[in-house]
Amino acid sequence: MQLQAPSRAGRIPLIERYREYLPVNDESPIVSLLEGDTPLIKADRLSRAIDPKLSIYLKYEGLNPTGSFKDRGMTMAITKAVEEGSKAVICASTGNTAAAAAAYSARAGLTCAVLLPKGEVALGKVSQSMMHGARVIAVTGNFDDALRVVLEITEKYPVTLVNSLNPYRIEGQKTGAFEICDVLGDAPAFHAIPVGNAGNITAYWKGYREYYEAGKIARLPKMLGFQAAGAAPIVRGRPIQNPETIATAIRIGNPASWKTAVAARDESGGTIDTVTDDEIVDAYKMLASVEGVFCEPASAASVAGVRKLAAAGYFKEPAQVVCVLTGHGLKDPNRAVKVSPPFMELPPEIDTIAGELGL
Ligand SMILES: *Cc1c(COP(=O)(O)O)cnc(C)c1O
Repeated sequence: MQLQAPSRAGRIPLIERYREYLPVNDESPIVSLLEGDTPLIKADRLSRAIDPKLSIYLKYEGLNPTGSFKDRGMTMAITKAVEEGSKAVICASTGNTAAAAAAYSARAGLTCAVLLPKGEVALGKVSQSMMHGARVIAVTGNFDDALRVVLEITEKYPVTLVNSLNPYRIEGQKTGAFEICDVLGDAPAFHAIPVGNAGNITAYWKGYREYYEAGKIARLPKMLGFQAAGAAPIVRGRPIQNPETIATAIRIGNPASWKTAVAARDESGGTIDTVTDDEIVDAYKMLASVEGVFCEPASAASVAGVRKLAAAGYFKEPAQVVCVLTGHGLKDPNRAVKVSPPFMELPPEIDTIAGELGL
């Protein structure tokens, strides 16, 4: 079994590691939780099951400090907020942006407010925002409603927006592409990623292009974005009023970075496609049971999408495919329990238990 992971020894702040590619200077007050440097896991069993021609790698972003890739953007956004003298930040969130904003704000001593769509945020994420001391407001509407209000607030009041419309978020997140190239020695042929508000596909494409222009890599990947079938505005070509999917992190009907996501698709010669909730759940269970990698449902959209394309004959020749697993499975324990068979409850007796185990 072959594993490929960057060295995690002597971790340093993401901003230090990629300083020359980021808009910081020597005076920037870096706010870090030692994010990034996440493993790129070669998934041989998954590749065999999906399409033996492919070498699938999993970029396991769930291993960031707050359990999702949002930390990459947030170390930049909070660093710049402090540098610019801001005292308070705000975001709308399906949960992970809020968790990251809350944690990095706590570390920087900033006030943080998060607006979450009521009843649609996974338990782990809500608990993080609460523990880090953010002002948590459940909005009786969806993510798109919450984002609209947050944009209006940041126009009227002296509060810094830390959604991915904040360009520093994209700057931080593009480092995911750098890390992949640093490990593989080049860009992969294909880069698969879930698409919600579309900041991350925008950021990865920017990262790949910058590394290409710097002569660090010899090729660019084709970008493969995946939206949940019930929340697929980019694929359908129009905003979705009432987006629906169990993958709550990508339950978004009107993505902020729509245009740049389409540009990433078209400039790279890739595609943005849909995956159904059933396909997402299948991939989610498969990753955990076949590779031992537990991600949240939205993250599995990348693997579900590659599986769908492979079944349709999309991949013509052997190729490296990197699937970004955007968040940790423990973010949404309720979903994990719901999709798993129930466990047995038995008295502590050897015969009963051995019998049940078929020993
Ligand atoms: C935020 C998030 C996404 C979607 O990323 P966008 O940049 O909004 O497209 C996907 N998965 C997880 C786990 C997330 O937290």
